Amino acid sequence: LGPDMKFKGVFHPVILCPARILEMNVVYYTEYGITFGAACSLDLVKNTLTKAVSELSKEKIEVFCALLRQLKSLGGQQIRNVASLGGNIMSANPTSDLNPILAAANCTLNLASAEAGTREIALNEDFFVGFGKTAAKPDEVLVSVHIPYSSKWEYMFAFRQAQRRENAFSIVNSGMRVLFHEETAAIEDLRIFYGGMGPTTVSVKKTCKELIGRPWNEEMLSEACRLLLDELPLPGSAPGGMVEYRRALTLSFFFKFYLSVLHRLKEMNITGQDMPLGYFTAIEDFQNETPQSLQIYQEVTQGQPSWDPVGRPIIHQSAIKQATGEAVYCDDIPSLDGELFMALVTSSRPHAKIVSIDVADALNLPGVVDVITASGVLANKITVFPLEGEHLLAEAEVTCIGQIVCAVVADTRVHAKRAAGAMKIAYEDLEPTVFTIEASIQQNSLYKIDMKLAKGNVDEAFEIVDQILEDEIHIGGQEHFYLETNSVLVIPKGEDGEMDVFIATQFPSFTQELVAMTLGVPSNRITCHVKRLGGAFGGKISKAAIIASIAATAAEKYRTGRSVRCVLERGEDMLITGGRHPFLGKYKVGFMNDGRILAVDVSFYCNAGSALDESALVIEKSVLQFDNAYSIPNIRAQGYACKTNLPSNTAFRGFGFPQGSLVTENWITDVAAKVGFSSEKVREINMYKGVERTHYKQEFDAHSLWRCWNECLEKSAYHNRKIAIEEFNKQHRWKKRGIAVVPIKYGIGFPSSFLNQAAALVHIYKDGSVLVTHGGVEMGQGIHTKMMQVTSRELRIPMSYIHISETSTNTVPNASPSAASYGTDANGLAVKNACEILLQRLDPVINDNPKGTWKDWIKKAYFQRISLSATGYSRGLDTKMDWEKQEGQPYGYFTFGACCSVVEIDCLTGDHKSIRTDIVMDVGCSINPAVDIGQIEGSFTQGLGLYTIEELKYSPKGMLYSRGPAQYKIPTVNDVPAQFNVSLLAGSCNPKAIYSSKGIGEPCVFLGCTVFYAIKDAIAAARRDSGLTGPFPLDSPATPERIRMACVDQFTKLVPVDEPGTYGPWAIHI
Ligand SMILES: Cc1cc2nc3c(=O)[nH]c(=O)nc-3n(C[C@H](O)[C@H](O)[C@H](O)COP(=O)(O)OP(=O)(O)OC[C@H]3O[C@@H](n4cnc5c(N)ncnc54)[C@H](O)[C@@H]3O)c2cc1C
Repeated sequence: LGPDMKFKGVFHPVILCPARILEMNVVYYTEYGITFGAACSLDLVKNTLTKAVSELSKEKIEVFCALLRQLKSLGGQQIRNVASLGGNIMSANPTSDLNPILAAANCTLNLASAEAGTREIALNEDFFVGFGKTAAKPDEVLVSVHIPYSSKWEYMFAFRQAQRRENAFSIVNSGMRVLFHEETAAIEDLRIFYGGMGPTTVSVKKTCKELIGRPWNEEMLSEACRLLLDELPLPGSAPGGMVEYRRALTLSFFFKFYLSVLHRLKEMNITGQDMPLGYFTAIEDFQNETPQSLQIYQEVTQGQPSWDPVGRPIIHQSAIKQATGEAVYCDDIPSLDGELFMALVTSSRPHAKIVSIDVADALNLPGVVDVITASGVLANKITVFPLEGEHLLAEAEVTCIGQIVCAVVADTRVHAKRAAGAMKIAYEDLEPTVFTIEASIQQNSLYKIDMKLAKGNVDEAFEIVDQILEDEIHIGGQEHFYLETNSVLVIPKGEDGEMDVFIATQFPSFTQELVAMTLGVPSNRITCHVKRLGGAFGGKISKAAIIASIAATAAEKYRTGRSVRCVLERGEDMLITGGRHPFLGKYKVGFMNDGRILAVDVSFYCNAGSALDESALVIEKSVLQFDNAYSIPNIRAQGYACKTNLPSNTAFRGFGFPQGSLVTENWITDVAAKVGFSSEKVREINMYKGVERTHYKQEFDAHSLWRCWNECLEKSAYHNRKIAIEEFNKQHRWKKRGIAVVPIKYGIGFPSSFLNQAAALVHIYKDGSVLVTHGGVEMGQGIHTKMMQVTSRELRIPMSYIHISETSTNTVPNASPSAASYGTDANGLAVKNACEILLQRLDPVINDNPKGTWKDWIKKAYFQRISLSATGYSRGLDTKMDWEKQEGQPYGYFTFGACCSVVEIDCLTGDHKSIRTDIVMDVGCSINPAVDIGQIEGSFTQGLGLYTIEELKYSPKGMLYSRGPAQYKIPTVNDVPAQFNVSLLAGSCNPKAIYSSKGIGEPCVFLGCTVFYAIKDAIAAARRDSGLTGPFPLDSPATPERIRMACVDQFTKLVPVDEPGTYGPWAIHI
């Protein structure tokens, strides 16, 4: 009930909690099985069954084992603690993991009603009558559930496959039970139920009936597959999509059932079909393990004083507070007297004229104060970096579902949301609507940006190469999924147009500028404050400022002192704020049979959405950096931003690099498959060597790149592991392993040099305590911790003397966004500069009393009228890119690294398990190895999510389906490689950044692609067993659906494919 009440606004006047009704909470053993009260939690059911399994004879526990197999991954522990057995059954969810087993096992339900008394009914195919509906009468309550023991010659198995192994509803699941005639392999009874194949749990009664009496052998298996496909038709437009995959899963599960039962029959010495040795692991599930990790970094040099924290693994200064909940985030700020809440009203149409906005009903609701529409905003159109021509609120037209049309302001959150739901907006649909990259290319719906780079002569090179390969890869987008959604609190100060804006943003000065422009006041009246962010990843730049400006407009109207708060719900945040750009990479590659790649012609198309936002810069990065670590003599690269009727995509950690370079690794992998070399050999042949120039003529030395690469090969024992994997793959038909090693060269800094500047303000108080402020925003990446380390070293005082309170626009003006992996480089130099100035002023005092303490010196300095406050400044890197001349130095320097991952896939279900990852990164001389390794591990895991799990689903009308954690899956701890090792390259230095360190915030997102390519390697092994060799397509993310369908075999070949265009699909790939 909870999720429906929270997310769908379902209202129940009365809710009964059966926690204290005895009959509904008991557990008792009978002669025939165990009866559970319907209110028993799933955890209690799990514990009871676990105990029963350990105590009862083997033949009695088949049903219990099947239930336990599902219960271990059903929801998570928190869900199992509160979800009840009765609730799971009565919800009649078609993907319930328990109902198919309970039904296949012939469980019985005890129902009771005040009028009709009690009755016992079978939980069978007649019980589930429709989506969320059962045959129980409206006044009946489920009192208890009887789960029978199994008998000799009866076997039961359960299967499930979800987008993610834990805490995700099944895509398809099944409960399968067979009873044999005694001492034979002849089927006496068969009951099979599937979930996820229709609006209810479904029985395949006809199939079962046809198979009764038949021996358990391959002919029966073939016949079963034919019958199952017949009995479980799924139209191309079926809700939930993934139609062919779901159909393939029904066969895969039956095949696993077949093998599992065969195995049992063998154990019982019943002769029948032999199970080939390599088939055995097909029936084993992947086990979740607690990941083990190794973190290797350099100790500081021996001579470094003990008080100097630079280079030491200092704990993130608010880590403990974040873990305990003491850390204060924007929405934790207590509400002020008279505070108002603002709820946003968004477009429900992808492209339409706004005919009217009727506010009457909303205004009449309790607590509602006002509705802000475009006409109530002074400057509704934004043209200030990084936005160009975007509207705060839609004016005459909407161009995507999720565009902000107006905002309702009310006295409470609940009132504001209720009123937002009561807003009546009339639309007139407009043509065209464009959602996909392909459609926008076809209709030439592109933003006018010109990003082209060329090197050498591609056409001539194509003439002389041995082979040419042309292909494309689609890379899905990604939701930022920061834990803290976009939030703002605007407090008007009551005079001179002054306002305080407390906001979760990476770019406070942009919010300040935008709010000031919107209100028509100078920037000096608006102060933005940022304490910390609960994650940002690029998603709290442009949209955060837009929401703040709308809230400021509302607050300005009530300047008598009513503050306005706006905190997006998860679903709203996902719908409105966009994410990582989906990409299509089309490429033509010319190469020699010895593996040398001589020419690449590549086009990148990103789905920018309905506004340009930062898309031009994202495309710029993909065109500039797609070379990754490879020196290709002839290059032609071009990038396009597709204009579509979807929410505008925006900055996201890596900013076009993770997409552009995935395309590169794809053509490397394809070339390797064509020339018959391993991918790592083709990588080595084509990697930059020594001092080289990129395709935009920036010079760099690839020495560290090769050191990382070689160390990674060595630390991962790559070559031995590869041989072991080949051996494993020879011995296993339905589980395959794969390995991939990928290098990285990642440019740090902003190509527009003005963004590389930074400033800081350092105050020393009379008691010796130091308050540091700088332009960087703490968003979990540890910048404040590093800035305190810098201050400590420069002022030669312990870190305990130093505090950073917040980032604010009245202490450091015009700060750049915390982005581009450049925060520490820029702000570190500014803080250092401020400290140097202070120390210079303090020098005479110190020299006067060299044995004195810091506190003595500060007191003395104060009385000597020495200023104890200083601003520091750093101009930053001199970067530039001349697109006319096709050359420049857009990056200050490069961060290098290499990563090797090993995975195992289940060819029958598409599930995968990350076995091991080894990363070696050159971060120069790390200022804080603990924080840097945290960034490496975190960004790698985010990349792993991007390339293998996270999938945005859009309806054919451009509506985002995946608007919460139930539909959108990010990696959990079980998705982290079971062995995860990170090493920082020793002895590397970088004269271009503070203390010789390097930026590391973004690069390792891309290294998640090693898991993608290891999966591809494993799929290639599976395909070889089916007689398929050479390159094959695999789009990102490599979801269970894509993995399964790429592992072509006798089962996938049986699944009919609906002709595209003959049906309306449930979802589209944008
Ligand atoms: C995040 C999340 C993940 C989940 N993952 C999974 C999963 O992977 N697999 C899976 O199978 N399930 C999953 N579930 C569902 C979960 O297992 C329960 O089915 C769900 O929570 C409902 O159980 P409840 O006890 O909360 O029932 P409630 O929400 O209290 O009730 C659900 C419905 O059943 C009715 N009902 C409840 N008890 C009775 C009764 N005794 N007699 C008559 N009617 C009754 C209620 O009126 C209501 O209509 C998940 C749930 C969540 C929230």
